Amino acid sequence: MIWYPYAQMKTMTPPFKIIDAEGVYLYTEEKKLIDSISSWWCVIHGYKNPEMNRAIAAQVEKFSHVMLGGLTHQAAEDLSDKLQAWLPGDLNYSFFSDSGSVAVEVALKMALQYYMNRSKKGRRLVLALDGAHHGGSFDEMNQSEDVRTMILALEHAYHGDTFKAMEVGDDEDYHFVLEAYGKNRNIIHIPTEIDALEKAFAAYGERLNSFIVEPLLQGAGGMRMYDVSFLRRARELCDRYDVLLIFDEVATGLGRTGNRFVADLVLPDIIVLGKALTGGYIGHAVTVANRKVYEGFYDDDPSHALMHGPTFMGNALACRAALKSIELFEREDYMAKIKRIEEVTRREMEGFSDPRVKEVRIMGGCVCVEVFDPATLKGYQQFAYERGVFSRPFLKYLYAMVPYVITEDELVKVLSTMREWFRR
Ligand SMILES: *Cc1c(COP(=O)(O)O)cnc(C)c1O
Repeated sequence: MIWYPYAQMKTMTPPFKIIDAEGVYLYTEEKKLIDSISSWWCVIHGYKNPEMNRAIAAQVEKFSHVMLGGLTHQAAEDLSDKLQAWLPGDLNYSFFSDSGSVAVEVALKMALQYYMNRSKKGRRLVLALDGAHHGGSFDEMNQSEDVRTMILALEHAYHGDTFKAMEVGDDEDYHFVLEAYGKNRNIIHIPTEIDALEKAFAAYGERLNSFIVEPLLQGAGGMRMYDVSFLRRARELCDRYDVLLIFDEVATGLGRTGNRFVADLVLPDIIVLGKALTGGYIGHAVTVANRKVYEGFYDDDPSHALMHGPTFMGNALACRAALKSIELFEREDYMAKIKRIEEVTRREMEGFSDPRVKEVRIMGGCVCVEVFDPATLKGYQQFAYERGVFSRPFLKYLYAMVPYVITEDELVKVLSTMREWFRR
């Protein structure tokens, strides 16, 4: 028995059974559907892409997986080299993991230990100067002022479904189980307003180890979009207070906002990529740190090492899928495709309004129609299905995040289906 995600098993409508998929299309026994949400935003090249398939198949012939503990391989090395060259600034140090949530955990762990390592170093120096002997208990360190244990995050954030990722998240609908533990006072949530940002840094700046954000576009929290000026100010404040800035680009990376990465506009200390990284062919993610973070671990002391290692990190099939995904993205000028998707979307949604609609938001390859009342969207999935579109609205949000290989006609069909719903 499959236990399905985000669903009340007792009352859920049965899912559509997919028997084949190609390009932007999903096939059920009786229907051909445009996948308007790219299987949770990751199938950017469409399904059954011959080049993606060949890249994975060629690696299968060699080996599918070897661990990265004590072993390495060409696919992981190639992907790390590619990311180093492709990502902006000195985001050069790739730590692989098997999903976006885990990669977020890794980023948060990096940020915390970065300051632990630093404060240990500092204290060792003091002890050495005092002639005292090496080391000190963890308790002692935990109490010391210089270990920064607080994290700043955004209201309505979604960073994944593992526990620390849930804690930095802020969405009752996903994270309500945390209520059982009470509020974590080490995590502060602020709205995407510069005023709130400045206040938070003034109050907690010295105690924060990191500020984690979904930059420009908050996905699962409701496709909320905000201005880059907020991130610019965040970068300045992080520099001033020596706080690590983490961009969770699991959803926004590889073009979704109309930027290759939001990190091209404002440079974080750590970036997390997932979802579209492998074109949706195999689950994989990566946490990429800059030189400053990496150097915070680089030491003769073994206890300064990052103690993390997902079994399937650097999986060879996933690395080959990611390499091909990036190659297609560059070679086929995906940034132009995404720009076109945004233009067509703006044109098609121009002048659209309805008393039940609160707002229409468009950014890059994402469009969201927010309604006042979730009941307004009840029945939409079936309505779209009958018209040959697969959609999965949630709460008050009817949205599309189409595969970048979609044609103009197909995109128009997705958008007109959305508009039609309000004309019944
Ligand atoms: C989907 C998502 C995650 C979690 O990724 P998984 O691969 O589902 O674990 C984390 N952060 C953001 C911004 C996401 O959209």
